Amino acid sequence: MSKGNGVYLRFLVMEYGYVRRELEGAKLGNSKILIEGNEVYLLLTIRRNVEVNEHRNKLVIDINEDSVDCLLVNYDRSEATLFSIRHNIRKIRTNYRRIRKSIQEKVKNPKLRNELLAKYGSRERKRVEDRLKKITLLLAEIARENNADLVRESLKDLRLNSKKRSKQLNYRLSTFPYRKFIEYLNYKFSERGLSVLEVDAKRTSITCPICGYVDKKNRLDKETFKCRRCGFTFNAQYVACLNLFSRSDDSKVAIRGGRLILISRKTASVVAVNVALDEPPNHMRWLRGKPVPKLIISTPSS
Ligand SMILES: [Zn+2]
Repeated sequence: MSKGNGVYLRFLVMEYGYVRRELEGAKLGNSKILIEGNEVYLLLTIRRNVEVNEHRNKLVIDINEDSVDCLLVNYDRSEATLFSIRHNIRKIRTNYRRIRKSIQEKVKNPKLRNELLAKYGSRERKRVEDRLKKITLLLAEIARENNADLVRESLKDLRLNSKKRSKQLNYRLSTFPYRKFIEYLNYKFSERGLSVLEVDAKRTSITCPICGYVDKKNRLDKETFKCRRCGFTFNAQYVACLNLFSRSDDSKVAIRGGRLILISRKTASVVAVNVALDEPPNHMRWLRGKPVPKLIISTPSS
């Protein structure tokens, strides 16, 4: 880059695999250099046409208090896997609530107090935002690797006023930035040419995926689902995923020879379901991110 008078600045450009992929077949638009402290960024604006197609493989997601629970159905490999990604957004919120409380109690100077509240407020937003971006990226990458469309609950319920919403949904909306999450997901999936399917999610957590019996008492506790009619017992966090799947794909969830299977009429196939270990696999480890900073209060010396 020329600084004028024959002086040039040279930059070491770090190249990332994903950037290379993004640039393939893209048109470069206005770009600029951004300097932030000691770091220099090259901001590239690109334009690309993407064709969104339908795929028979599906990634079904169910968003919960602490995790995004998923069912990946890959007909090409005759595989279906249930797994869970912890988003820990509730934990981030709780930590910052504690920090805010401590600022309110300990900082007497109103100006400083407001400054600190604003500072930690913006940190909290950034951390939540960062977490949302990482999780949606991870989901989109898993889907891309598997040529899978996204299946998620329909947003219809969210349009109702808060009195009509269920208690559980209201709680979820107050701690989890649901709309933003969906917005990122939709963007990242269509960017990769993958479709997004919305499914009615009513009572998916209390409906038996095998016999269809609906009852609040089907949920024994937070962890266990046990159907009062047919006795089907399963990890409660994955029951909604199974129901969302059968509602989206004209499919049935059944048990054959003691194994959970998916029967898809649309693709005329039968796939056995595996449950992945609870811990995220190695490549998901970066999701854990940085620890929440401790509160440091500095008082102006004057
Ligand atoms: Zn049942």
